Amino acid sequence: MIWMPQRKPQPEWTTWLQLRWDGFVVHYGEIGVKGGNRKAWTKVLQQRLQSVLKGFGAKVSNLFDHLFVTVPEENLVEAMESSARVFGVAYVAPVRRVDRSVDACAEVAVQAYRLLATNNSTIAVRVRRVDKSFPLTSQELERQIGHQVVAATGAKVNLTNPDILFTFRVYTDCAYLLGPKISGIGGLPVGVSGRVLCLLSGGIDSAVAAWLVMRRGCLVDFVHFHAFPTAEDALADKVPQLVKALVEPQGLTARLFLIPYYPFQLAVLTQKVPPRLELVLFRRFMVRAASKIAETHGYQALVTGDNIGQVASQTLANLRATEDAASLPILRPLLAWDKSEIVLLAQRIGTYTLSIQPYKDCCSLLARHPETKARLSAVRTAESSLPIEQLVDRTLKEMVAVTVGTEKLEKGVEQSCRKMSPKASL
Ligand code: ATP
Ligand code: MG
Repeated sequence: MIWMPQRKPQPEWTTWLQLRWDGFVVHYGEIGVKGGNRKAWTKVLQQRLQSVLKGFGAKVSNLFDHLFVTVPEENLVEAMESSARVFGVAYVAPVRRVDRSVDACAEVAVQAYRLLATNNSTIAVRVRRVDKSFPLTSQELERQIGHQVVAATGAKVNLTNPDILFTFRVYTDCAYLLGPKISGIGGLPVGVSGRVLCLLSGGIDSAVAAWLVMRRGCLVDFVHFHAFPTAEDALADKVPQLVKALVEPQGLTARLFLIPYYPFQLAVLTQKVPPRLELVLFRRFMVRAASKIAETHGYQALVTGDNIGQVASQTLANLRATEDAASLPILRPLLAWDKSEIVLLAQRIGTYTLSIQPYKDCCSLLARHPETKARLSAVRTAESSLPIEQLVDRTLKEMVAVTVGTEKLEKGVEQSCRKMSPKASL
């Protein structure tokens, strides 16, 4: 199960934080091994962080093998916690910049020891030289810094299980003392893997599915089919809030397309479609409409919260019958998860409470007892009684789009969405 960054610092944190820090470092995990893409992807992460941290008065710089964030001291902890939740971040840690000399490192370690030590706390020093031309080896540095700390404080050394660990990095122009780390959420920064369109139902699964593909670097926009009398009613309900909960922690906005359900409902009533096939036909209708939007606006795939066997629409036969109507790949990141795992992640990412709020879901208006083993040929025959292409086009004419979130959309997204006339902007 995915580890989530902690909300509140550990108790020993409070003491560490009494030291003066110059900012914090952000280390990226997977980006670091991306060879040719590393430079561009680090830049995307830098933009994401800058956007997330803009309310904190922070500045994010791109240094040799990490990002360095300066931030007013009173915002340090909150800024680090927000950064740890940005996709692409392996860990964050506060740093104190010192001269690259044994004396300067030892001096700051002694200060820290005096703050942190309780009775006879033992110490160890770890050094990594990023600048390999430094005249002393890492081990020599560790020994010499440790020796000075022992001489000044009387501390005992315990290399295997120290009470206080001093971690230093030596760069070409300075050395860092690293404070305690907060593990990051991992993944890739949103934007590096292309753009996808998520079919968001307002329930638990599709929000988690969107989060998972965002974590792999996809920029996600959303489409929702609603059963409200007007788009404004849908806007006032929970779906835009769910979108916001997903994109805001990444410093992003998202486009939300709202599509009315009633044209489909009227069509199936008029054409007397077999009630057992209504559900599969609606699923095909949703992916047809979403595929059309994707083609117009340049999304590379659709995303759903489908999960094998979860409900009638998600038997393998029905998934196949649905997929048959799509004109581009459907990503289903939750396909093989257990519901309890999905719920746990929804709680951790902060969408669960919204997802379980009562909602007027259009699937609840479909006939009960749907077919669970829909035969593709029977589905196609039933669908041929509907003027399906015109129905999709007519329905899309009634679609509205809104921009949900804090920031302006990325350039590319904005341009391709210009054909939409947004009725509202949140
Ligand atoms: P969710 O999976 O989001 O919790 P659900 O469990 O009720 O919803 P279904 O209704 O079978 O599952 O839907 C399966 C998938 O189809 C959803 O995960 C979502 O991607 C998509 N979907 C369902 N209803 C809608 C809707 N009204 N608008 C957009 N997409 C929808
Ligand atoms: Mg579901």
